[in-house]
Parts: sequence; C-alpha cells; structure tokens
Amino acid sequence: MNCDAASERMLDWIDDRLTESERASMLAHLNGCPACRSELRDLERVQQQLGSLPVPEPSAGLRRNFYEQLETFKEEAKPRPVRKFFQTNGFRAAAACLLMAVGIGVGYWLSERSASRQQVDELSEQVRDMRQMMMLSLLENPSATERLRAVSYTRDLNEVNDKVLDALLTTLNNDPNPNVRLVTLEALVQLGSDPRVRQGLVKALGYQDSPLVQVALADAMVRLQEKRSVKPLRRLLRRENLNDLVKTKIEQSIKDLS
Ligand SMILES: [Zn+2]
Repeated sequence: MNCDAASERMLDWIDDRLTESERASMLAHLNGCPACRSELRDLERVQQQLGSLPVPEPSAGLRRNFYEQLETFKEEAKPRPVRKFFQTNGFRAAAACLLMAVGIGVGYWLSERSASRQQVDELSEQVRDMRQMMMLSLLENPSATERLRAVSYTRDLNEVNDKVLDALLTTLNNDPNPNVRLVTLEALVQLGSDPRVRQGLVKALGYQDSPLVQVALADAMVRLQEKRSVKPLRRLLRRENLNDLVKTKIEQSIKDLS
C-alpha cells in the first residue's frame, strides 16, 4: 500500500470499516510510514473535536448549496396557476372518470403531487428549526463575525419564535460590537410586522449608547411609522452629551412621526 491509498482509507480505519486484509496492509504501511501516522493522528483529533461539537456544522459552501437546492426544489414544486384547475373537485371527478375509462394513472399523479408538496413543507420547517437553533448557538459565539453570521440567518425567516426574538433583542441591546447591533436592528426591522418586535424596538431606544445605532433606530421607527417611539425619542433628546448629528436626526424623526 502507498501513502495515497493509506490516506484514502484513514476515515474507514478510524470508523472501523476496513476488511481484515485492508486492515493488515494499512497497519503494515503505518508501521513503516511516520508521515501517514501523523496524518492519521491529526484526522483522529479532528474527528474527536467534531464529535464533541453540540451541532455538527456543515461548511458554508455546503449550506449555501443546500439552501439553493431547497429554493430550486420549492420553485419546482410550487403550484403553477394552470395547475389550480387540476386541483379542483371538478377536475378530480373528471380525472376519476378518465381513470376508469382509459386507465391511466392520473390519480397517482395527483396524490404524488400533494405528497411531495407536503414533503417540501416539512423540509422547510426542518430547515427553519435548524436555522433557528444554529442561530441561537452562534449568537453566543465570542467572535463578532460569527454573531453577524447568526443574525444573517434570520434574513429569510418570516416569523420567529419567542426564543429567537428574545435572543435578537438581547443582542440589539447588549452586544459589545456596534456592527452586530446594527445588523441585528436591520434583521428586526424586517420582522417589523410582528407587534412583539415593534415593542422591543421601542424599548431598545432607552438602551442604545452608540450614535450609529441611535440614528439607525430612529430611522427604523420612521420606516415602521411606530408612533409609540415618540416618547422614548424625546427622552433620548434630553440626554446629556448626545451627539449633534444624532440630535438633528432624532428631531427630524419625531417630526416625521407626529
Ligand atoms: Zn505513508
């Protein structure tokens, strides 16, 4: 066995999937090859680390691919307007007659169609749950880049559960990095049709110290036409050492909202 062959079989070696004779020749090679021994050790270490991760995380590329595929799948499975007619009871009755008359599998076609749609729905739900879970654990990450990535997972969510919403609002109010707070704010504004989100944003006005976030939040209040923000905005205006630009922006926002 040469190094390439040995390298190829290392994962199977670790998982104990080699045949007796493969094991023997692998062992013989490892005994005589320090390079492969060290490669195997590294691989085992990586495997162990992977095993101890709470959520096995696919690579960014893989995940993107997966979502792309899901989108394509959804797109293909989407009922087109023409099919609406095919889903009416009238058509089903006609199809039943046709089925009896000519014996083709229209019925099968219809049931398969709805079964696959159900599968797509289930898959979407699983993806959403997975994404929310991944996001919650990433938000705890010490790296700001990872936290930004976490927030970006909410981009495609139309609704969020309480846990995710709490996590986002906590991030908006407490994250040490203003960029993370800004991106979080943007994600929350996307969910602005949710009354819990709006209430959280109004409250957040009292917590922000960064001029950038203060301006962005005031801007968000105008975009959402959130009148309840006028009071906390006025309170913010009374703060000492408020940045002049922020002051102007807030005054303008109050005007736009009144
Ligand atoms: Zn070797």
